[in-house]
Amino acid sequence: MDQNGQSKSPINVLANGHSPAASERLQIIDDEKKFTPDLSAQIEKWGLRDVGFGYNIVAVFGSQSTGKSTLLNRLFGTTFDVMDETRRQQTTKGIWMCRGKDMNVMVMDVEGTDGRERGEDQDFERKSALFSLASSEILIINIWEHQVGLYQGANMALLKTVFEVNLGLFGKNATGGRTLLLFVIRDHIGQTPLANLQATLTADLKRIWESLSKPPELTDCQLSDYFDLVFTALPHKILAADRFEAEVLNLRKRFVDKDAPDFLFKPVYHKRIPADGAAFYMENIWEQVQSNKDLDLPTQQELLAQFRCDEISTVALAEFNEQAKSQKRPVEAGRVVDGLGELMRNWRTDALTRYDRDASRYHQGVYKRKRADLVGALDATLSPLFIGQLKNLHKTCLVAFKKEMLDGLHGEGYNFADVTSKARERCLERFEAGAKEAVVEGTDWTWDDEMISLQEEVRSVADQCRKDETKKMVNLIERNFKKQISEPVELALNKAAPDMWDDILRTFRQTLDKAEASYLTKATSFNCTEEENATSLAVLRRRGWQGLRSKIDEQTADPVILAKLRGHFEERFRYDATGVPRVWKPEDDIDGAFKKAKDETLDLIPLYSKIQPTDPSLEYTLPADSLVAPTDSELGEDFEFATTLVVFTETKAIEITQKFRREADAYYVEAKRSTVASIAQ
Ligand code: GDP
Ligand code: MG
Repeated sequence: MDQNGQSKSPINVLANGHSPAASERLQIIDDEKKFTPDLSAQIEKWGLRDVGFGYNIVAVFGSQSTGKSTLLNRLFGTTFDVMDETRRQQTTKGIWMCRGKDMNVMVMDVEGTDGRERGEDQDFERKSALFSLASSEILIINIWEHQVGLYQGANMALLKTVFEVNLGLFGKNATGGRTLLLFVIRDHIGQTPLANLQATLTADLKRIWESLSKPPELTDCQLSDYFDLVFTALPHKILAADRFEAEVLNLRKRFVDKDAPDFLFKPVYHKRIPADGAAFYMENIWEQVQSNKDLDLPTQQELLAQFRCDEISTVALAEFNEQAKSQKRPVEAGRVVDGLGELMRNWRTDALTRYDRDASRYHQGVYKRKRADLVGALDATLSPLFIGQLKNLHKTCLVAFKKEMLDGLHGEGYNFADVTSKARERCLERFEAGAKEAVVEGTDWTWDDEMISLQEEVRSVADQCRKDETKKMVNLIERNFKKQISEPVELALNKAAPDMWDDILRTFRQTLDKAEASYLTKATSFNCTEEENATSLAVLRRRGWQGLRSKIDEQTADPVILAKLRGHFEERFRYDATGVPRVWKPEDDIDGAFKKAKDETLDLIPLYSKIQPTDPSLEYTLPADSLVAPTDSELGEDFEFATTLVVFTETKAIEITQKFRREADAYYVEAKRSTVASIAQ
């Protein structure tokens, strides 16, 4: 058993249904005037850290050994040291704090020497009074009945200090806070009614108030502008023990029962410091008290808010960063993270909820400013993820588009316009859905630019595909064209009729017309522009002409043309009109026949030399745009059409003539020999 008659044995504590920590007390200011570093942890142990504004602070004030600790222990179930009557030993100087039993109340008990009487350490008294007043909602002023009216008494002198200091604290800011001064008159015998004692005390207080040296701008301010006063009395603890306990219980009710009409913890006294910031706030006030600075509570509250909001924000941000880190690598590696927007929204909301829960109770201006800072920090982390996701989405959608185009253009019978527009639609829809998902509300993030650039790339891929497809189609038509003109040209050149060029050009034109028509039919599905069609047709015509020319070149190469001439000559010289081989007899006119056949054959050379129809309407000229080679083609150089009409130059014609003459001469000699041989037989 300790001095309070309360058990501290763990068994009893547990039997009482309380955790040992709940009844722990802490010396928050020691006899060296040091503030404890443990208050924050102790508040947590008391289970008060997370109660927000749901707690109260009360302190006591009065001369030594006036039963302050005794009273507090009874009112709040605390465990403060009580002076042992038999030994009268001095309790440790300082300020102690306990949690009220079963109540969210922090109770402060001030221990100390009675400086006034002992003439020592007024500094501590003054400072603890200042501190108690700044930090508590209710200040209990404990006073013996016989001290009432003794203006010179130690208590009243101390009160003067409290008031003076209070003006220093709240003078500039009357709304800074109200405090309840609860006078508890001890050892009230009952001869003088409480009302009389109250009147005496009130008059004393007013006198004190008037005697204060006030700043000029506050000369008119009243005691009641800052304080509410409540008076109560308690019977003698020893002489009227039963009534004493009963009255103490009554007083206790006024601290406990929220619904009682004379409930003392009115919200207006609350200092509006969230419980998790109380330790820091008190320590700051103590520091200010110690350094004797003018206590400006609003500034204190802002400082506290800055400190706590920063702390809360840092914790929220750390947890958030941990979450955000998990998706950083995949995004950087180029992956489109499924549901990234949802994740980001959740992390962000969680962080802000955590921050709001703990920080919103602090000074609103600071809370909001720090919240904006936090939002900025969150978004700065999320923004690269968003941008990365868009980039990856862009890439993936474009790749999918290309693949769909290739698959769609595979094989026969596709409609280019259909394939393109479907693939395009799917690609853009997919991007839009992904981008929308990734946007976090409350940010100014947009994806318009990325969408525009994707649209441009899709268009350029589609254009390239169309160009490739058009080229393929033109190549195919060209191959067919060449196949179709091949035989008619060979036949015509073999026949070597005077109007052979008419036949060839007629065939050329008909086939080219068909090729052009076939191009135009297919091109409608390609959405080609007029200009592209014009270019394709120009290319087709040029290739057609080049195809014809190379066929002619092939059929008029030296050995081929010589064979043709030889054939022509032989038909006339070695066979008769009915196609029977001639057997020359001496009386035959070999010379005449030879000359005739040779001349007729030589006449063919000018015919072959130039592409020239007998019918002028069949003359063909390649349109001008077909003469200019398109920049991206392998169609050779620009050329002059007129030169392509020439098959043999003059020199070439002479060379062929000479070669043919030599061959013909050989036939002549052979014919002559054969007659000589027949005579000899
Ligand atoms: P504190 O120094 O003001 O905290 O006083 P304590 O609570 O330690 O009490 C000092 C002494 O006064 C103790 O021996 C108590 O038993 C005694 N005491 C407590 N309450 C009363 C009271 O109401 N009347 C009288 N006469 N004595 C009391
Ligand atoms: Mg005490």
